[in-house]
Order: sequence, then structure tokens, then C-alpha cells
Amino acid sequence: MKIFCIGRNYAKHAEELGNSVPTKPLVFMKPPTAALRDNKPFYYPEFSEDLHYEVEVVLKICKNGKHIQPAFADAYFQEIGLGIDFTARDVQARCKEKGHPWEIAKGFDHSAVVGKFLPKEDLVMNDIGFHLKKNSETVQEGNTRDLIFDFNTLICYISKIFTLQKGDYIYTGTPAGVGPVVRGDVLTGFIGTEQMFDCEVK
Ligand code: MG
Repeated sequence: MKIFCIGRNYAKHAEELGNSVPTKPLVFMKPPTAALRDNKPFYYPEFSEDLHYEVEVVLKICKNGKHIQPAFADAYFQEIGLGIDFTARDVQARCKEKGHPWEIAKGFDHSAVVGKFLPKEDLVMNDIGFHLKKNSETVQEGNTRDLIFDFNTLICYISKIFTLQKGDYIYTGTPAGVGPVVRGDVLTGFIGTEQMFDCEVK
């Protein structure tokens, strides 16, 4: 399976990191070893001193496809999840400065937290409200109505370049409010009032 992630897909988040709003989706990938499931704890990596959470709605791809056309994109995912795109912000800043790839800041082991999935029918795709709590405080809130590139657009775009396969994930981008974690923090993610995951930082 592959893990695709979209950068800068909410204008206010692009702004908070001083980035311009992209004119086409900004795609990067994490390896399968990045996935952290089943509410397992996350161990703070020793190569970073500024690890950030980014809560994101996650699509689970349900069948193989390439060059998917807009009218059919909707058929390639049946379930919606929520996860965290953990980012070593200090490492990423150094990569960006030098124009280097940023895999080491984004694709490290267990950097892709993913919780349970809900059937698509239970949600309205362009009105999914979600939030992240750090300990008991809400630190990020978003709604898919604010996506720059919606789910179907992402599926069409990615599948022109990479074959999508059953089981792949697409992390659809984070809203504003990203920030650091320290050991001992507990992150809990919600779609509406439904708790989707919890993750302790150790
Ligand atoms: Mg992200």
C-alpha cells in the first residue's frame, strides 16, 4: 500500500507557514512503514526537536485505478478516516532551505497515524467537520468545505501519475493550527463528535 499526502490544501494553513496557495495539488508520499494504527503510542524521534501534529481527513482507496476521470473518482473510496501527518518541522525547514526532498521530515516510521474509518454514506463529503485535541484542548479545527482541491480532484490528479491501489491512503491536507508536541501529550481526533483515534506521544 502507498500513503499519499497533500500539502497546503487549506488556504489558512498555507498562510500560517508562510507558503503560497498552490495552483495544483502538492503531493508527497510516506512509505507503508509510516502507518501507525490501533491507537498505538507514538515514540518521539531522536532526530527532531520540533515535531508537529497535522490532523487530516484520510481517504482509503477501495479499488485499483489509473487516469481516473472526474465522473468516476467518487467510486474509488468508500470509507473516510482521520489521521495525523506527523512532521519534523525543524528537519523540514532545513530541507526546504536547501531545496532538498523532505521525506526524512515526513516519511519516518509511524509518522502517519490513522484511526478508524466511517462509511462514506454517513458523511457529506464537502462538509466534514473535524478537530484535534491535544490533551483536553482543541488545537485544530477544520471542515472539508475549505479544501482547495476536493477529494475527487485529488483522486484524478494523483491517478494520472501513480496507479492507485486498493488499500492506499490519501491524507487530504491539514487545516490551520499545526503545532508542536512533547512527550506525554495525548492527541485525540474527531469527525463531528465521533472519536476516530487517540495517540499518546512517548
Ligand atoms: Mg500534512
